[in-house]
Amino acid sequence: MMVDVLDIAANLKAVEAKIADAARNADRDPNSVTLVAVGKAHPGERSRAALAAGHMVFGENRVQEAEAKWPELKAQYPDARLHLIGPLQTNKVRNAVALFDVIETVDRPKLAAALAKEMTHANKRLECFVQINTGAEAQKAGILPEDADAFIESCLKDHGLWVTGLMCIPPVGEEPSLHFALLREIAARHGLKNLSMGMSADYEIAIAFGATHVRVGTAIFGERQPR
Ligand SMILES: *Cc1c(COP(=O)(O)O)cnc(C)c1O
Repeated sequence: MMVDVLDIAANLKAVEAKIADAARNADRDPNSVTLVAVGKAHPGERSRAALAAGHMVFGENRVQEAEAKWPELKAQYPDARLHLIGPLQTNKVRNAVALFDVIETVDRPKLAAALAKEMTHANKRLECFVQINTGAEAQKAGILPEDADAFIESCLKDHGLWVTGLMCIPPVGEEPSLHFALLREIAARHGLKNLSMGMSADYEIAIAFGATHVRVGTAIFGERQPR
């Protein structure tokens, strides 16, 4: 599917309208939901088109790809905020802390320690979400639900990370609601206010379950080319 610059502005408007409807249907303030526009696997020009249309919150899932696109875009749009939504290797922590504004994928003790150390070193305090592997899928990143409580507490107390929320990616082909409800329940136990859940196919459902951040790629930027 070809997507041009005009389409991106129109797609953004359409997604924002659906977000607002979904929020109102759930008796929520539409402003309580942040749209994270996921530009992964698309040329930087598409993110630039979204920036030109006034959108400022973006997600990328690979540090290296983000480093190729975003220093230039951020120089041009200093208010842009970039969320890391993909797995983070500890050898990329320095680069990630330098470029991203929010790390959504804190998912293991070694990474929590490396992030805390690097943030101290860089004198930065990035907002963090803990990723929960709600479907306990072997191939998927995220802390297992049964380990979540101890890990969240450890991130906050042992590592001093600024954890404000949780993130999940429900298993493909499963009813996502159960996963959204589980994420909300774990967050509530820890008084965490942010829930990053919902993608192009299910963000309206996620909003009904309390999503504060929806990560939408395809509905804004079109189908991704195979890498
Ligand atoms: C790619 C990706 C998205 C966006 O998916 P779409 O279905 O294109 O909206 C959201 N979250 C994560 C973690 C992703 O990797």
